[in-house]
Amino acid sequence: MKESSGQVSAEPVLAPNFIRNIIDNDLGLSKNNGRIMTRFPPEPNGYLHIGHAKSICLNFGLAEEYSGLCNLRFDDTNPSKEEVEYVDSIKEDVKWLGFDWGNRLYYASDYFDKLYEYAMSLIKKEKAFVCSLNAEEIRKYRGTLKEPGIESPYRNRTVEENINLFERMKNGEFANGAHVLRAKIDMSSPNLNMRDPVLYRILHADHHRTGSNWRIYPMYDFAHGLSDSIEGVTHSVCTLEFEDHRPLYDWILDELNVFHPKQIEFARLNLNYTVMSKRKLLELVEGGFVSGWDDPRMPSLSGLRRRGYTPEAIRTFCERIGVAKSNSVVDMALLEFCLREDLNKRSPRVMAVLDPLKVVIDNYPKEIVEELDAINNPEDSSMGTRKIPFSREIYIEREDFREDPPKKFFRLSPGREVRLKSAYYITCVNVIKDENTGEITQLHCTYDPKTRGGSSDDGRKVKGTLHWVSAAHCMDAEVRLYDRLFTKENPAVEKDGHNFKEFINPKSLEILKSCKVEPGLLKALPGSIFQFERLGYFCVDSKESSKNSLVFNRTVTLRDSWSKIENKQKQ
Ligand code: ATP
Ligand code: MG
Repeated sequence: MKESSGQVSAEPVLAPNFIRNIIDNDLGLSKNNGRIMTRFPPEPNGYLHIGHAKSICLNFGLAEEYSGLCNLRFDDTNPSKEEVEYVDSIKEDVKWLGFDWGNRLYYASDYFDKLYEYAMSLIKKEKAFVCSLNAEEIRKYRGTLKEPGIESPYRNRTVEENINLFERMKNGEFANGAHVLRAKIDMSSPNLNMRDPVLYRILHADHHRTGSNWRIYPMYDFAHGLSDSIEGVTHSVCTLEFEDHRPLYDWILDELNVFHPKQIEFARLNLNYTVMSKRKLLELVEGGFVSGWDDPRMPSLSGLRRRGYTPEAIRTFCERIGVAKSNSVVDMALLEFCLREDLNKRSPRVMAVLDPLKVVIDNYPKEIVEELDAINNPEDSSMGTRKIPFSREIYIEREDFREDPPKKFFRLSPGREVRLKSAYYITCVNVIKDENTGEITQLHCTYDPKTRGGSSDDGRKVKGTLHWVSAAHCMDAEVRLYDRLFTKENPAVEKDGHNFKEFINPKSLEILKSCKVEPGLLKALPGSIFQFERLGYFCVDSKESSKNSLVFNRTVTLRDSWSKIENKQKQ
């Protein structure tokens, strides 16, 4: 492996995953009669990102591995921030990653009636009460890590009073914030989540599925564990920040004496040079810093897809990073490594010139056009060959010519012979410049007809091989070069009053408008990915490319140039 891939192993091995051990152990004890069920529980308040992919691969992957099932459940308990657009995009993204929830698409809102009944059961058991302190007072009464909390003066309301008030909360008789339903646990618990947490709040807001039926909505902690239980989830896998909520998760299920899934926490995925919170990503979209959730620079799955990432590369990445209990930051270079590895195997090679310089081959007949054979993928002979037109005038990459070549510059220069990929050897005989600016406008070369296909039979060697396109046959294209969205490794850490948006990379997008690509690309389908010889991997933009104006996104460079630049900067 030549590329830098960060500290994590890029070898295709099963990375450590402690959850497998837990499941193996549970299976050994015949828990749940050997049944395994997981779920992926997104809140539909944004698009999914690469962090969610880790959770998706983990939940669906474990189910696949253990012949179990994985549900897709929308945790839609907060109507004010949720939208149908997000529900649709999440379904699309999970499918795109290659996972199937079968007929098990659920919504926490489907359980609102049941959840209400469960809340009533807690009230009847004197394990929940209606509290009429306001939000500010509740916060004050909660205490701190050092000091115990103070019991609410409403804690000892009678069951009848609580039932009456809770019903009236449900019926919409009170304003937002007038009352809440709280669990009655322990105001002096060292765990703040156990200090009589709020289970239900009044919210006069319509819900994307239940409309105006409800004026109270359950809190996440109440809805989540019970939804797991209702669905018969055996292993409820979530991220570390829920570790302190587990006692509450367990308390609710135990008090109600219902099926009790096991909550297991793992470390969320953090990637350098990007941000991963939906709130921050939404800020980038709403502030116009990117063109949308699917901007190819976004770490959202829709952005990565539009950029040319394949589901296979993302799944491999998620397997390689492993699943652990301690937080860490994964190097973006590993994600890119997984992508290159996948694309190298299966993307067709084509030729494209990003910054064209015209070359006239003086001794090539004007009226002739040859159809030369080019190999589609040296990694996979089953992908065959294609014909590419060759004629007297071609374009090469401007940076492939130097009038005064430095040492080790093996490409074209005056008097130097190089190979045109899959075509002929050419030698530069003349350089034409703009009289006023001195800019090189055209090169004149001669070709050797005996080198057809790009090799000579007299054993003559050339050091440089250039990509090219035939001037009369190529297509115009726009190419968008993307780079990391942030210049800082950890932009989300907003120390000393800095905001993450200050670290946006001003060069994260460069648009090249006068590129030339080989004619066959006119038939390329939106979203298809190619290796542009010597340049990197590029995909046809799925949104803005058309037959009349081809648009390509650079998916990833051929090598990891970023780490080199960085190392130079450090020196
Ligand atoms: P964010 O913090 O980005 O806003 P979230 O945790 O609020 O995300 P949810 O919709 O609640 O987003 O997430 C759905 C599932 O994905 C949860 O189980 C959550 O733990 C998991 N998840 C979210 N972010 C990551 C991440 N970076 N790595 C791994 N899993 C994640
Ligand atoms: Mg969340």
